Amino acid sequence: MNMSEEYDVIVIGAGPAGYHAAIRCSQLGLRTACIDKSVDMNGAPAYGGTCLNWGCIPSKALLDASQKFEDAKRFEDIGITIADLQVDLSAMMNHKNDVVASLTSGIAGLFKGNGVVDLPGHGRLVKDCMVEYVPADASEPEILVAENVILAPGSVPVDISVAPVDSNLIEDSTGALNFTAVPPRLGVIGAGVIGLELGSVWNRLGSNVIVLEALEEFLPMADRRIARDSLRIFQSQGLDIRLDTKVIGSKVGSSTVVVDYEGKNGTESIEVDKLVVAVGRRPLVSNLFSEDSGVSLDEDGFISVDENCRTKAQNVFAIGDAVRGPMLAHKGMEEGIMVAEQIAGGQPTVAYDRIPSVIYTNPEIAWVGSTEQELAENSVEFNVGTFPFAASGRALAANENQGMVKVLADAKNDRIVGVHVLGPHASELIAQAVIAMEFDASSEDLALTMFAHPTLGEAIHEAVLGISGQAIHMVNRKSGSSK
Ligand code: FAD
Ligand code: AMP
Repeated sequence: MNMSEEYDVIVIGAGPAGYHAAIRCSQLGLRTACIDKSVDMNGAPAYGGTCLNWGCIPSKALLDASQKFEDAKRFEDIGITIADLQVDLSAMMNHKNDVVASLTSGIAGLFKGNGVVDLPGHGRLVKDCMVEYVPADASEPEILVAENVILAPGSVPVDISVAPVDSNLIEDSTGALNFTAVPPRLGVIGAGVIGLELGSVWNRLGSNVIVLEALEEFLPMADRRIARDSLRIFQSQGLDIRLDTKVIGSKVGSSTVVVDYEGKNGTESIEVDKLVVAVGRRPLVSNLFSEDSGVSLDEDGFISVDENCRTKAQNVFAIGDAVRGPMLAHKGMEEGIMVAEQIAGGQPTVAYDRIPSVIYTNPEIAWVGSTEQELAENSVEFNVGTFPFAASGRALAANENQGMVKVLADAKNDRIVGVHVLGPHASELIAQAVIAMEFDASSEDLALTMFAHPTLGEAIHEAVLGISGQAIHMVNRKSGSSK
């Protein structure tokens, strides 16, 4: 095997975590290479990892397109008539594929423009920051030497033996982004973020969607009121979400799947035309590092790291979905930047307590900071302000008035400790809350801030004003739990 090039930094994985790390390393003057093995439908290198190829971006392309179709069905409400509304699924998929292609090739361009050496193929940490690189073009493997190595291998869908993804009738999230026809009946296992987003896409496009969820509670990580309201809204949209329903088996027939589950009425089955398994993701750590590399896994199979993303091996870092914390693209991006800055001598940190969570359903759900339950469990006294979008002029004008904003402030010092949104553009609105919390804002700081009228952001302002009983567009109630 050839020994060749020496680098300051080698990054394994060009998903959001890895490509952020690589670009920032290069910006900081470090000689950087990034190895990635993902390929597109034609077998060509495709940087951007899960997020750009099979995750955030293609799912949002389909969520946005299917929501436009759904909105168009209700255009009559606002005085617009469409004679013959149709979905051309193949054109919709082409649009999604074009978006993906443009963004993945954009990463290749960013690597080039920033001086990152991109190495398509497989990478494996051997030891002492040496990396075995097997090029995608089947040329001779090489040993690359670096001062520092960043592992950013990402994650893959969890398989369950009761519904193996081994026929074209049972699919994982990647398969569910590529259906060639709208399945008349679609089963989804798992009412987590991915299950709800994919279930929403196909429900809007015409499938009868049944979501089977083992837990009794809907969205246990979200605010209880918002989880309850969103469940009601999703059910009214036609999503048949069955809680306390554990899938225990499946039988694949010639064109349908029978899914057996244990629910409130004992063992039952449904027959569907496609089944999507969306029961979570696991870190992709196979063939990533040798046993004597010094890198180790924690009890859940994630790469063990400290709060600065350092592994137990010297100068080896790990970031993104493969390490503890929420499996979110922006969390990995921040870790990538942090590690790059640390390698260059800085001491930045990631604000793990201010990571925004978003579910891109309609309405969207987004939150940052603590829930009421978490504050109560930690004996933190808090005040609550809420504001419904039904009282927002802008939401009413846009015919999107479902949901609410809830703001939680610490009762002792008035600092904002949690913001929860169910409503239009919640994914964008939550950034206002993240900024406020980043600057340690009190609810009074936000109350004294001017918001443009009429905007959806005013709902945050009114919720904050409600904490001190000063909301204008609703009758104020006493502070306390809003459940
Ligand atoms: P990845 O994006 O998984 O990238 C890792 C890369 O490393 C891959 O290209 C992989 O092939 C490569 N690799 C792995 N091992 C090796 C090796 N040994 N050698 C070479 N290359 C290797 N998150 C959000 O924040 N917002 C969303 O809206 C969102 N939507 C999602 C929708 C779906 C359907 C899915 C599946 C995920 C979604 N996510 C979303 C999660 C998001 O995609 C991940 O959190 C994010 O991609 C993780 O980034 P990463 O860089 O850690 O890993
Ligand atoms: P997430 O981890 O957020 O992607 O959500 C995955 C969901 O799948 C969790 O809420 C799990 O409870 C659910 N789940 C896992 N296995 C099963 C199963 N066999 N039947 C039904 N739901 C399941």
